[in-house]
Amino acid sequence: MTDCVFCNIITRKLPAEILYENDDALCILDINPIHYGHTLVIPKRHCRDFLELAPESFPGMMEAMQVVSNALVRSLDLEGYNIFTNNGAIAGQSVFHFHIHITPRYKNDDIRFVLQLKQYPDGEISNYAERIRSQL
Ligand code: 5GP
Ligand code: ZN
Repeated sequence: MTDCVFCNIITRKLPAEILYENDDALCILDINPIHYGHTLVIPKRHCRDFLELAPESFPGMMEAMQVVSNALVRSLDLEGYNIFTNNGAIAGQSVFHFHIHITPRYKNDDIRFVLQLKQYPDGEISNYAERIRSQL
């Protein structure tokens, strides 16, 4: 995709701080990090979101995620890290080439994912499970 920023980074038409790559994935530093070391794991083949990700690239993506997580933990002395992905604009996706975020965490880092947890009304957890299982 010629107008895709991550495709252009993969083909080296745009610069990026590349940390690691394998046949299926490229890992770069995010240009606007939540915390220094914030890394993006990007499939080399363009796809819009997780549902479009080719299953053949799952092992390569997972390998890259683990290799880079290990390097982040060791090099930056991390106490923890988050792995997440935004799929769809409503979920916060801003670059529509699928990618996985790995973000360093530290004690007192003041990073909060503000969540208001719900409780299922009586019996509803089974209804949700049944609806989801019906589409597997
Ligand atoms: P999303 O919001 O789609 O989950 O995440 C997109 C991420 O890509 C953002 O965190 C943003 O900072 C990062 N990003 C956008 N453009 C560039 C770029 O040109 N280079 C790099 N390294 N990161 C980018
Ligand atoms: Zn792309």
